Amino acid sequence: MRIVLVGPPGAGKGTQAAFLAKKLSIPHISTGDLFRANISQQTELGKLAKSYMDKGELVPDEVTIAMAKDRMSQSDAENGFLLDGFPRNVKQAEALDEMLKAEGMKLDAVLDLEVPEEEVVKRIAGRRTCRNDSAHVFHVEYKKPKSEGVCDVCGGELYQREDDSEATVRKRLEVYHTQTEPIIDYYKAQGLVVTITAMGKVEEVTQRALEALHPKDDGDK
Ligand code: AMP
Repeated sequence: MRIVLVGPPGAGKGTQAAFLAKKLSIPHISTGDLFRANISQQTELGKLAKSYMDKGELVPDEVTIAMAKDRMSQSDAENGFLLDGFPRNVKQAEALDEMLKAEGMKLDAVLDLEVPEEEVVKRIAGRRTCRNDSAHVFHVEYKKPKSEGVCDVCGGELYQREDDSEATVRKRLEVYHTQTEPIIDYYKAQGLVVTITAMGKVEEVTQRALEALHPKDDGDK
């Protein structure tokens, strides 16, 4: 399956993507994670991306599209992928369509995670992420780690992403509304969008997502 996950920052895209990708046996491709890997390796792309990410803005399309294409053309993505955080505007969505069309492929579904705005701010401002694996996510109130600052899963250091401060979250939400939300209409016109609520327990949301994807899935992947 080829799936795009959309939703505001804090909807739980990263967490859901990790579970869904495992269930569906497809790689989880997160452009945010790819940028963060470049930042920790101090590459030129990382330096450029950081200057936009810290402000809550989108990294320019040209470099983002090139990076996403490069990742999608790796062998593990031949039979499908779950895109998390890409595309993030209509230009990127068009680039993705062109790329798939050139390979004779198409998307199967666009999963839209809905969550109320105030919930988003609360979720993100208290979010703590593991330095070893960004799918290991905790929260200072809702999901406290057993030992403060330490990941329960792997013992890695928990930190607050620079772009998770309240001011940056508000900016990221504005960017989401103005630039990313229009891709939902773009994909609705192709009949690809399935919308689910991202409220409730992580496992409940995963289950809801799998059920929503099911009609387009062969069920045993
Ligand atoms: P995420 O981890 O998906 O929340 O992404 C964190 C940040 O990385 C975003 O706020 C953007 O600055 C940048 N980013 C991630 N994906 C994209 C994309 N497709 N286009 C532009 N910027 C992106």
